[in-house]
Amino acid sequence: MSEVLAPAAPATPPLVSLTEDEALFRDNVRQFADESIRPKVREMDEKGVFDHAIIEQFFHLGLMGIEIPEQYGGAGGRFFESILAVEEISRVDPSAGVIVDVQNTLVNNALLRWSTEDQKKRYLPRMAANTVGAYALSEAGSGSDAFAMQTRAQLKGSEYVLNGRKLWITNGKEAGLFVLFATIDPAAGYKGITTFMVDRTFPGFTVGKKEDKLGIRASSTCELILEDCRVPKENVLGEVGKGYKIAIETLNEGRIGIGAQMVGLARGAWEHALKYSQERKQFGRTISDFQGIQFQLAQMATEIEAARMMVYNAARMKDAGMNFVKEAAMTKLFASQVAERVSSLAVEILGGVGFTKDYPVEKYYRDAKIGKIYEGTSNMQLQTIAKLVMQKQ
Ligand SMILES: Cc1cc2nc3c(=O)[nH]c(=O)nc-3n(C[C@H](O)[C@H](O)[C@H](O)COP(=O)(O)OP(=O)(O)OC[C@H]3O[C@@H](n4cnc5c(N)ncnc54)[C@H](O)[C@@H]3O)c2cc1C
Repeated sequence: MSEVLAPAAPATPPLVSLTEDEALFRDNVRQFADESIRPKVREMDEKGVFDHAIIEQFFHLGLMGIEIPEQYGGAGGRFFESILAVEEISRVDPSAGVIVDVQNTLVNNALLRWSTEDQKKRYLPRMAANTVGAYALSEAGSGSDAFAMQTRAQLKGSEYVLNGRKLWITNGKEAGLFVLFATIDPAAGYKGITTFMVDRTFPGFTVGKKEDKLGIRASSTCELILEDCRVPKENVLGEVGKGYKIAIETLNEGRIGIGAQMVGLARGAWEHALKYSQERKQFGRTISDFQGIQFQLAQMATEIEAARMMVYNAARMKDAGMNFVKEAAMTKLFASQVAERVSSLAVEILGGVGFTKDYPVEKYYRDAKIGKIYEGTSNMQLQTIAKLVMQKQ
């Protein structure tokens, strides 16, 4: 009897391979970033103000509601597409990248996972169409120790009354909706933390000072002031006292987004360094003819490739419903290190002009630093990774 061979199992696709749809999406975002964002990057950085017309284009292109289902007006995409968008936009401008990142990986993500059907109907169409979101966890006294927050929420009748201040809130200037964390009982520790959907228009809510920063200067980073801010009970997101879970789980996903931002940034800096090295002549040759420069470009490209595979793998794990906590922390830790090293070397490859504002590489270098700070500092990532790799197998 002849042997019947089972059909060959499909080969596992390489980590960085894209489906046709993903490649098309990436190409469209890349073209948009090159044509519509790039000409405005320098001025936005100098002024420390983001051009609102670009935000309108983000909405128009569906980039602010990538994972929001079509029934609520979104693009009905996957987390991986959000990651591709953040990478491609950050290649041109990491400030623009973080706007799209916070919207998709933190705010929409929290709403999609924890909101009720009524909340979905009220908020998701807005998030997809015209409302920028912000994610308000940090305070002056609680950064890495986020759950030591002091902002207080007290139930009075059908409303919660919020008092306190939030600090460092990305998109603060532009946002219409704030996913905001407060405690209903400071004595209860993390078990008092509750998540609220706070509209900018709610009475008692004010956006305060905007920070003047080293990098991602066009991305607004603001203080929020809550003085007897009244939030309807129907705007509690998830369960009362379970806000810590929402914070931890959304930030796990957000970290992959920051990894994508850092990979895009590193690619942007590398491309400028390559181009310059092929034009600049010293000793009668282009500097790219020197092995010393070639080796630097090769090292940078290798590190970018490694960081990118980590980002894509973590994102694919998330979409596959796997546990990705360790991979997300590693991705953010490593990609932010790569971004800093690559953008620093890019400045060196450009020599003196690399140190001036006439060329864009000094901006990538400044922008890279934030990757090691927000959504959990590098030490906090190392703490998570250590805990997970050192626990009994
Ligand atoms: C530009 C920008 C945008 C931001 N956007 C947002 C936002 O949208 N929403 C939001 O909620 N927050 C945001 N943040 C806040 C950011 O997440 C915090 O700044 C960050 O978590 C660090 O907190 P911290 O600044 O209080 O530093 P700290 O927590 O005071 O840390 C200071 C130093 O101590 C180290 N450290 C602290 N604890 C430990 C420990 N246990 N072991 C070892 N080292 C430790 C840290 O690694 C760091 O090096 C933003 C910050 C910036 C600068």
